[in-house]
Amino acid sequence: MGSLRVCFFGSGDAFGSGGRLQSCVMVQTGEVGLLIDCGATALSGMKRQGIDSSAVDAILISHLHGDHFCGLPFLIKEIQVTGARDKAMTIAGPEGLEPRVEGLLKLLFPGSEDIRSGFWPDFRVLSAGGTRQIGDFLVTAYPAAHPPETRPLSLRIDCRGTVIAYSGDTEWNDMLPEVSRGADLFICETYEYRHRAGNHINYLTLLDHRHELDCRRIVLTHLGDTMLKRCGSLEFECAQDGMVIEV
Ligand SMILES: [Zn+2]
Repeated sequence: MGSLRVCFFGSGDAFGSGGRLQSCVMVQTGEVGLLIDCGATALSGMKRQGIDSSAVDAILISHLHGDHFCGLPFLIKEIQVTGARDKAMTIAGPEGLEPRVEGLLKLLFPGSEDIRSGFWPDFRVLSAGGTRQIGDFLVTAYPAAHPPETRPLSLRIDCRGTVIAYSGDTEWNDMLPEVSRGADLFICETYEYRHRAGNHINYLTLLDHRHELDCRRIVLTHLGDTMLKRCGSLEFECAQDGMVIEV
């Protein structure tokens, strides 16, 4: 325990509820840094905590919703503009991530048609049921219950025996106990308190399934308005932007 530093740069939903930033968490081992999701506000969240992209060695993307991956064009563009990076970066996510990021760069930064001629990350595909070694991290992807067009994944990340599980965006589903079994930290989305809107977990449903979860610590994230009103009076810990924990 205590071998990983986990910083929540963004713990909010897609819509800026409570003024929070979009999904982005960093895991640091001391030698390497891993981002888990990279919402559009990721660079702002990182820089508020004194972290810049030079500290990021790899990035995992859970699914193809903008509040989880649209920080990538800005992060890549910044590295290209500053020209300061001299090491590789691996980005692993669902099939289709790389062409989307390339398309977004061309769309958002006209004149960047030869966008791949400078720094370009090493993109890898994460598929449900598969396990890949991403730098120091052994990453297993599970199917999540979210719009299928987003190719949604829950992730289990093993770093030299310390395990972080991440729900991604999902409705409650029977894979989540397996994703988080024995984990040192389970970062679980809980967008709503009671409302069953579909596509997301609500807090009361999570409580109903609590007995199925076998993990050391649960931190709730992707918090919408109905959750933000109740943070501090819940049975589980809620993430905040800038929160740092040791795992
Ligand atoms: Zn989503």
